[in-house]
Amino acid sequence: MEYVITPPAMPVLPVRGTDAVYPVHRIYCVGRNYAAHAIEMGHDPDKEPPFFFLKNPDNIDTGGRFAYPPASNDVQHEIELVVALAKGGTDISVEKALDCVYGYAVGLDMTRRDLQAEAKKMGRPWEVGKAFEQSAPCGEVVPARAIGHPDSGAVWLKVNGEMRQEGDLNQLIWKVPEVISYLSGLFKLAAGDLIMTGTPAGVGPVSRGDTLLGHVDGVGDLEVKVV
Ligand code: MN
Repeated sequence: MEYVITPPAMPVLPVRGTDAVYPVHRIYCVGRNYAAHAIEMGHDPDKEPPFFFLKNPDNIDTGGRFAYPPASNDVQHEIELVVALAKGGTDISVEKALDCVYGYAVGLDMTRRDLQAEAKKMGRPWEVGKAFEQSAPCGEVVPARAIGHPDSGAVWLKVNGEMRQEGDLNQLIWKVPEVISYLSGLFKLAAGDLIMTGTPAGVGPVSRGDTLLGHVDGVGDLEVKVV
């Protein structure tokens, strides 16, 4: 096929233990999936149905340097477990959901909190707050065949060596199989889809010069410098 313009490059993530890469199709994100974070954002953490927003696939960044974006004075970190799908489908049962997982990664859901807050207040979509360039720094994908399916273990983020976010995967309100199952009732999930599973409490602003170090037990670390 001949393209009328040069097709954009496929966003990809490195995969631990191989030179092959994981192609990114879509990025689904879960909102308020840790009770303590729901409370800090002013919401009731009772188990309501999960809700979702998306980032653009090319918001993925693996370079370790996050360029402070325009139009915001309050860019915040959200450390998250990322699920990488090997296959998808519709109406996937909770019991079969983990069969769809290729692996896991450590990611950041970088957020222009001031723009998101304005959007929330006005009942507008969140993309200006969530789906900007480099808004999804992400580490290597670790295959589930190597580490299994982590459902407990520490999730934390340090800024300049100081602990800012701390949680545990066992605090996820909607567990990974439930998220996949629920999402597959709304969308036809597919290979290459990433799911950012939500962030624990302690979100806060970043500044140029900061070094962010994120960690998910069993998955790995992600270091990002804010420039
Ligand atoms: Mn998030």
